[in-house]
This record gives sequence, C-alpha cells and structure tokens, in this order.
Amino acid sequence: MLPVFRAQIDEETQEAAREVLDSGWLGMGAWVDRFETELGRFLELSGDRQVVAVNTGTSALHLALLAAGVGPGDEVLTPAFNNIGDFQAITACGAKPVFVDVREEDLGIDVVQAERLVGPAVKAILPLHYMGVPCDISGVYAIAHMHELRVVEDACHAVGSHTPWGTIGSWGDMQCFSFDPIKTMTCIDGGAVTADEEDAEKIRRARLLGVVQPTKRQYVEVGRALASTDGGYDVVDQGFRYHLANLHAAVGLSQLRHLPDWISSRREAADAYNAALAGLPIRLPPDDLTGVSLFGYTIRVPDGRREELRRHLAERDVDTGVHWRPGHWLSWLKNCRGADRLPVSDQVGLEITTLPLWSVMDDEDLARVIDAIWTFYG
Ligand SMILES: *Cc1c(COP(=O)(O)O)cnc(C)c1O
Repeated sequence: MLPVFRAQIDEETQEAAREVLDSGWLGMGAWVDRFETELGRFLELSGDRQVVAVNTGTSALHLALLAAGVGPGDEVLTPAFNNIGDFQAITACGAKPVFVDVREEDLGIDVVQAERLVGPAVKAILPLHYMGVPCDISGVYAIAHMHELRVVEDACHAVGSHTPWGTIGSWGDMQCFSFDPIKTMTCIDGGAVTADEEDAEKIRRARLLGVVQPTKRQYVEVGRALASTDGGYDVVDQGFRYHLANLHAAVGLSQLRHLPDWISSRREAADAYNAALAGLPIRLPPDDLTGVSLFGYTIRVPDGRREELRRHLAERDVDTGVHWRPGHWLSWLKNCRGADRLPVSDQVGLEITTLPLWSVMDDEDLARVIDAIWTFYG
C-alpha cells in the first residue's frame, strides 16, 4: 500500500538519536538549544525574533495563544476548515473559536468574512497556511491592525514557505510549527513558535512548568538547576510540561539539513501531479507553487464521488486521507459562533482528498497514483 505520508528516517537520523541516548541527557538540553538556533537560521529570523521549541504543534498553538493574552471569555477567529489541534488550543485557553469560512483559491481564511465576525470578545485571529500555501496574510494583518487583534499563524504545514515579506516565521506576530511524525520534517514529535523576544520569553517560561531561571541554564542543565539547592528558581505563573527533549531535537537537527532538498522534491512531485491530472473533473492545488513548501497534495472530488474514488484507489493499494472534516461538523464545536454560514468549508469537507506525497518520492509511485485516478475516470 502506498501511504499518504512517509517520513524520511535515514542512517543519519538514527545516528543522531543514538548520540543523545549515549549522552545520558535525554531531556531538554544542548541539542534543543542547537535546534532552535538552526531552525531560526533556516527560517531567516533576524532582529529580536526567536524560536522557542516545544513538544508538539498543538502545544505551540496553546502557548502562543496564552502569550497573546487569550483567556476565558475571549474569542479567536479561525477557519472552520482547520486542524483539531487549533480548536483544542483555543478551548484549552478557556476561549471559544469563531468559525470563518475559507476562500476557494487557497483554502485559507476568508478575510472579508473574518472582518464581519469581529466582535467585542475577539482577541486574536488564527489563520492557517493550508498545506503550506500562504493564505491572504496581508489581509489578515490589515484586519488585525484595524481591530487591534493579535495574530497567531498556524504554520504547521508551512515550514520553509515564503511570502513576499519573507519566510513564514521571520516576520509578523507569532507563528506555530509542528514536527509530528507525518510533517515535512519530523522530530518524531515536536513543535516551535516564532515570536519576538517578549513573547518568546513568556513561552519559554510556560513550556517548562512556569519556572523562571537564567535562560541559558534552561537548556544546558535544567535538571541539575532544579535539583541543586542554590538553583534559585521561582514559579510565577501557570506553566506546562511542553518542552522539547534532546532526543527529539537531535532527530530534528538531522532532518533540517535535508529540508531544502525535501521541499524542492515535494514541489516537483506536486508539479508532476498537477500536470498529469489536469483535464480530469477534479480540482487541483494552485498551479504555481513557487516559494511554497508543500506539505500534502490535496484534490477536490466533486459530485459526491469522493468515497467511491478513495475505494477505487484503496483497491489498487493507494492510500488516501481526508484533511479535514470542518470544525463545525464536530460535536464539541458545532455551536460555535459563525457555524451557520460556512458554505465553502461545507463543500470542501465533502470533497477534499489527500493523495500520497512525501519527500523524494519515486516516479513509479507517482505514476501508480496517477494511473489509478485516470482509470477511475475511465
Ligand atoms: C499537525 C498540525 C497541527 C498539530 O500539530 P501536532 O504536532 O500534531 O500537535 C496543527 N495544525 C496543523 C495545520 C497541523 O497540520
């Protein structure tokens, strides 16, 4: 069976993990510090922008929202067509998602509708760069500026994607990344927030049980600092155990070195899909993927034929996915504000299908998927 996603775990990644296991220091430490530095370099951070590594993309979102001051009684504007982690991060803050529809061209947030939904309780906007394709980010910041909202960008799909204003993460308010097992690069599990120094400091404190201490020591010898009698630490706020471990950071570091090549290879595969599937009665991702770090390749299958196509592909050993069911279809969230008017999300929820895509995918694997889709349409 061709999987939908496949991680690249080579000898180098295994060696990196072994090195940490042999070092005896498995938790947060020097590797995490190095991972943050290298990721910051890759994302072209400058000025006082910093990377804070955490244990998942969901915790990155949770901590970024808390740093933005989102709390009980607040609302956060977010596309209904989004990851469960985003919704849970919002409700974990005691806030409520307000569902905004997406626009057809990139399945990113519809900023015109977002602005209509701004109300007195709205504190922040959480847009998503779906599959790594930048959303209407200048529109998002225009609304944020006008209504004094904080922006937490979900960049979990978009590691290495570019906007006209720089790499995602290098500018703007805050951005969240995920390095879970299926993402473009993995830490097995991991995440990161990019933010300015003030927010980064809040997030660093919150990721480690709210402990305040000389910053470098958080990485270098956190366990010893906590254990020593003169550690001098204090706790001043609610914190979480959300930090990244050395083992995971080392896996991430080994992956980062390949990331530019992987991003190009995914784009080439997507271009090949786009060329080969043109002319079929399905909707394809944007034609021009210049500057996009594409996480997944999704098509839209109209006329209620999605499950039929997915079965046809499964019978030919090609797995597919559904990313995602819209938030307002889920019991936990069906009554959120905005849920009554999401025509594009409703349509996308019925049609969206993820085809196999991973880094350095074989031409033969691509051809198998393409052939299987062509046979479906006769
Ligand atoms: C993966 C993902 C998340 C959650 O990240 P985890 O590391 O799995 O917690 C959030 N948003 C999007 C868009 C994602 O793809």
